Amino acid sequence: MDSPRNLRPTAEYQAIDAAHHWHPQTDMAEVNARGSRVFAGADGIWLTDTEGERLIDGMSGLWCVNVGYGRERIAEAMYQQAKVLPYYNTFFQCTHPPAAEFAQAIAEVAPEGFSKVFFANSGSEANDTVFRLARVYWDVMGRPRKKTFIARKNGYHGSSVASASLGGMSFMHAQSGLPIAGVHHIGQPYWFGEAEPGESPADFGLRRARELASAIDRIGAENVCAFVAEPIQGAGGVIIPPETYWPEISRICAEREILLVADEVICGFGRTGRWFGSETFGIKPDLMPIAKGMTSGYVPMGGVLVHDRVAGPVIERAGEFAHGYTYSGHPVACAAGLANLAILREEGLVDRVREDIGPYLQERWLKLGEHPLVGEARMVGLIGALELVRDKERRTRFAEEGRTGTEARELSLANGLVMRATRDTLLIAPPLCLTHEEADMIAERAARTLDDLADAKARAGET
Ligand code: PMP
Repeated sequence: MDSPRNLRPTAEYQAIDAAHHWHPQTDMAEVNARGSRVFAGADGIWLTDTEGERLIDGMSGLWCVNVGYGRERIAEAMYQQAKVLPYYNTFFQCTHPPAAEFAQAIAEVAPEGFSKVFFANSGSEANDTVFRLARVYWDVMGRPRKKTFIARKNGYHGSSVASASLGGMSFMHAQSGLPIAGVHHIGQPYWFGEAEPGESPADFGLRRARELASAIDRIGAENVCAFVAEPIQGAGGVIIPPETYWPEISRICAEREILLVADEVICGFGRTGRWFGSETFGIKPDLMPIAKGMTSGYVPMGGVLVHDRVAGPVIERAGEFAHGYTYSGHPVACAAGLANLAILREEGLVDRVREDIGPYLQERWLKLGEHPLVGEARMVGLIGALELVRDKERRTRFAEEGRTGTEARELSLANGLVMRATRDTLLIAPPLCLTHEEADMIAERAARTLDDLADAKARAGET
């Protein structure tokens, strides 16, 4: 590993970290009792910790490092921009070359009709922007009562007050009295976890989509602003909806005049084998929050892609949209984003996910579904999951939901593969640049992890 700095012993970092660093989405008492793992470097799909151990990053960081680590071109673009114009705002009739060029570059890869980008700094801010912009849209359309959002249980849209409210994570809501007023949640299209016995994926997909129609009719279409959902739920457990789901959702939104918001924070920028998950699933959204793969995580950035049918009326009639961030369109982030998009385009990474490396890893990943502890293996593009079960036929889970997922994730780490666990589901979303050989290694390490889990469960008398 090329070390950019002289590293101190791991224990020193762990000690100062435990003393001063409050981690996000973390039980600090638990983490400090064990000591954090300290990462020091990365290259391609490989992470290196301060003990010199190399791990495959099966999660692209947090679903964001789409082009992989160690891209000199992005680092160089950021450095050059920081020297020339490290910061200037985009308020008060100002812009700068990177913001204008990056907005243009995003519009070029976006689906037809998405010619405007509003910049933010994270996925949470992107969804807060949606929350305000969608309401302003209906105001200027002369329908100011359309204020209510419908989103989904177990959806994830961020951690700020509005985005966590749109999200349907009950454990997040429980901690601080969320959701805020004006947000309703319907069921998720989680066939493996929630279908009735014998119900086909197609029937289940339709049933869950029609919950949207019922919710709109109950609240009154004249009061509903937008439906917000991820094309594939990521943090909720890589839940890939049945094929019937999105066409029915799109139909319902169009029929009842509800804005459709596809949260592309994870799916955007190639993850599903198209530039946007909406293209993979045939969704025709009005707004698309984006982040993560926008800069491949080299620097924080988020934004909202706005369809012309929404942007047009708001820009013409609303006057000032009283919303924006100091760092909206930050020049260094835009420079990173431009270099990132150039890599994705020049290396054809998105097509490669659809036609080459995606199908290659999928074939190996779906085979893991034959393991006795796997109830379902699923993957689209380069985002997938394994549902861990105690009894494959009956789909019985292990006791204490979440314990087995955590156990499996730890075993995977010991096998040199970073996966994530949501409840008892293992998740994977590797960088889009992985080689065939690395895809083989992911499948081998995941298979070994399942065998190790089976041994551990047998030893513990849990099978
Ligand atoms: N939307 C989705 C679909 C996400 O997966 C995430 C983050 N995992 C967010 C929004 C929030 O993004 P951020 O953490 O950058 O605020």
